Amino acid sequence: MATQAIDSAALIRTLTARLGPGSVLTEAGDIGGYLVETRGLYQGQALAVLRPRDLDEVAFAVRSCAEAGVPIVPQGGNTGLVGGGVPYGGVVLSLARLDRIREVEAVNATITVEAGCILKSVQEAADRAGYLFPLSLASEGSCCIGGNLATNAGGTAVLRYGNMRELTLGLEVVLADGRIWNGLKGLRKDNTGYDLKNLFIGSEGTLGIITAAVLKLFPKAHTRVTAFVGCPSPHHVLKVFERLRERASDQLTAFETMADFGLEIILKHRPAAPRPLSGRHPFYALIELSSSQKDADLQSLMETLLGEGLEEGLIEDAVIGSSEAQSQALWALREDLSEVQRLEGGSIKHDVAVPVSRVAEFIEVATGACEAEMPGIRVCAFGHIGDGNIHFNLSQPVSMDKSAFLARWEHFNRIVHDIVNGMNGSISAEHGIGLIKLDELPHYKDPVALDLMRSIKRTLDPQNILNPGKVVTTRADSPAAF
Ligand code: FAD
Repeated sequence: MATQAIDSAALIRTLTARLGPGSVLTEAGDIGGYLVETRGLYQGQALAVLRPRDLDEVAFAVRSCAEAGVPIVPQGGNTGLVGGGVPYGGVVLSLARLDRIREVEAVNATITVEAGCILKSVQEAADRAGYLFPLSLASEGSCCIGGNLATNAGGTAVLRYGNMRELTLGLEVVLADGRIWNGLKGLRKDNTGYDLKNLFIGSEGTLGIITAAVLKLFPKAHTRVTAFVGCPSPHHVLKVFERLRERASDQLTAFETMADFGLEIILKHRPAAPRPLSGRHPFYALIELSSSQKDADLQSLMETLLGEGLEEGLIEDAVIGSSEAQSQALWALREDLSEVQRLEGGSIKHDVAVPVSRVAEFIEVATGACEAEMPGIRVCAFGHIGDGNIHFNLSQPVSMDKSAFLARWEHFNRIVHDIVNGMNGSISAEHGIGLIKLDELPHYKDPVALDLMRSIKRTLDPQNILNPGKVVTTRADSPAAF
């Protein structure tokens, strides 16, 4: 823990002298956007926002802060949904200007990118080189690779390609004392001891500052077909998933679900979006098949599989996108869902995972429990059903006061997370712990695992200056940061 008296003015002078005044922002008007998270749930404060341009400047900034005992909160695109990038004192270290694509290695099928690269620009660079970088999130136009790594981001293509851990071969990291670990190896095999990169991936800025990464590339998808289907229940959706996974094998790239409530609020708030099916159904699935084979007949395969599902009563209605524009319109329905929920008043969000085999049961049990607890509550369950990851969000009853509803957040956490835990699931599937789930983690994480996590934190960051008060360190551990 940082204990020495902090001469913050001297630190700002040192940083300004080395990084330049444009890289050390201190005016309220310049730093305001870095102090709040995307949903406005938390308002932080900071001495300054640092905007280094390269690795050496990051190392200098971290070393200087470490010597002064000043906390550092790394930030990329600030699209995180758990308050992990919100500072409570100390400095924000924005990686946004480390935005170079360093190298595309065609034979190795890897791309080396800096932490501040916007995810979309990495997808585009891979595409220009004739490859696919498959990580895909609704925030891809603004989130950064460093943030994707620090949160072990998932998204819509995890089913086929895995999350950020599976997509990463090497990392470059500035450690809490300013030393640089160059782990930028593009090796598919390296059994020389502990896998250090996987400590930093998913550590939400609490163990080191990620400055660059070597990422895996894949053959481009040359054929793709998208379908939207209506089903009588989440159990039927799950059966459709099982069928497609068995018959389409690794051509099944995405399998997303949403409840009727989700589709209805999209159509209400996006009047230009066409209703995909003529009637309403309790649950929907958005399905994508893709292949790197140019002559793969995915259209026929999709038609056959959905036809069988219709005959067996698993599916009530289905539409297959007949053009790229139609497929994109179907995907937009899914991508808009997070945004339109905001327009329905307060929402209490749970990003949870259970074994795929229990995901329909989870939706049913948790929906029943929440509706029984608060009549009129509107359950918005959607997400990556093929990964067992459901965003189990609760919209306030129409007539209820928003703040009275949000005051029940912890109460609903207990209901939903207890059900998740009873199914051997996880209380955070893809967004992380940050601030929002800090108090939840000790309830559900194995105590031995928590103990190991705390020992790793103490070893890599003995002063507790890297994103203190998040994930495993509490406010009580980090008075200097609050
Ligand atoms: P930030 O928000 O800036 O930071 C996130 C965390 O990482 C913070 O704790 C921060 O301190 C730390 N951090 C950032 N950069 C570094 C670095 N270089 N080194 C060390 N630590 C760092 N997430 C998913 O996984 N799947 C989804 O499908 C998904 N969909 C989303 C849709 C929308 C509309 C929005 C707004 C968000 C969504 N997210 C999703 C959440 C978010 O986009 C991801 O968590 C993303 O990976 C965060 O990237 P970022 O650059 O914005 O990180």
